[in-house]
Amino acid sequence: MPETIKIFKIRFDNITMKEALKKALIFAKDKKQHYICTPNPEILLTAEKNLKYQEVLNKSDLNIADGIGILWAAKFEKITKNKKRPAIFAKWFTSLSSILFYPKYIRTELSERVTGTDLMQNICKQAASENIKVFLLGAADGVAKKVKNILEKKYPKIKIVGTFAGSPTKAEETEIIKRINKTEAQILFVAYGAPAQEFWISRNLKKLKKIRLAIGIGGAFDYIAGIRKRAPKWLQHTGTEWLYRLIQQPSRIKRIYNATVKFPVKVLRKRLR
Ligand code: UDP
Repeated sequence: MPETIKIFKIRFDNITMKEALKKALIFAKDKKQHYICTPNPEILLTAEKNLKYQEVLNKSDLNIADGIGILWAAKFEKITKNKKRPAIFAKWFTSLSSILFYPKYIRTELSERVTGTDLMQNICKQAASENIKVFLLGAADGVAKKVKNILEKKYPKIKIVGTFAGSPTKAEETEIIKRINKTEAQILFVAYGAPAQEFWISRNLKKLKKIRLAIGIGGAFDYIAGIRKRAPKWLQHTGTEWLYRLIQQPSRIKRIYNATVKFPVKVLRKRLR
C-alpha cells in the first residue's frame, strides 16, 4: 500500500486509527506545532473550487480519510487506471455496490476510515493518562462545556483546561487566542465545520503559543454531547452512515446528496476525461 494517495489533488495519509493516534500524541509533545485535517467527500468538493483551501489541507501534518467515499475513490482510481470507457463504467458500478455488499473490496488502497469523532475520543483518553492539556473550541453555546463534563466522567484524569463556543469570524480571533493562551493548552479541537475550522487553524496556529496540535473536528462535539447520534457500528461498517444521518437530520439532504451522488459522479467524470 502506498504511504499517501492524492484524491482531487488532496493528500491522504494511509494510516489506521492506531497509527493516527500514535502520531497525534507525538505531535502533541513535539517542539514544533502541527495540525491534522479530516477530509471527507464534501470537503474535497469544496477544495476543488478553492485553491487556498487545497493549500491548507495539503500543508497539514496528517490527513485522515474521514468517509467511506474517500476509500472508494482511492480504489476506483487504482482499478480504472489505463482502462477503456466501458470497463471504467462497469468498475464504477461494481466498486460502488461493493460498499454495501462487500466493503472489504475497497479497503486495499486506503486501509481504514478514521473518523474525526473517534480520533478525538481516543486522543482524549490518551491525553488523560499522559497529562496533556486540552482546549475545546466551537460548536453551539454550552456544547463544548457538556463535552468537557462527559469526557471528565469518562476519563477522570483528563485536563480540559478551557472551552469556548466563540465564532470563526476574524473579529473574534484576538479574544479567542487570548483565552486559549491563558490556559497553556497543548491540544486544540476546533469544531467550526469545514472549511472555516481549517482556515481558522491555519491563520492562528502560530499565535497559539503552547498549542502543539490543532484538529478541525466538524460535528464531533455534537456527537459526543449526544445532540446528534452516530449511526450504530454495523451501519458505519456497511458504509451507510449517511442514510442514518439523512433520517436524523433531513435538512442535511443537500450535503448528503453532494457526498453520495455528486462526489462519485465527479470521480467518474474525472476518470473519463
Ligand atoms: N459551528 C460553529 N460555528 C459556526 C458554524 C458551525 O460552532 O459558525 C459548529 C456547529 O455547531 C457544529 C460544527 O461546527 O458543531 C460543525 O458541524 P458540521 O455539521 O459541519 O460537521 P460534520 O457533521 O460535517 O462533521
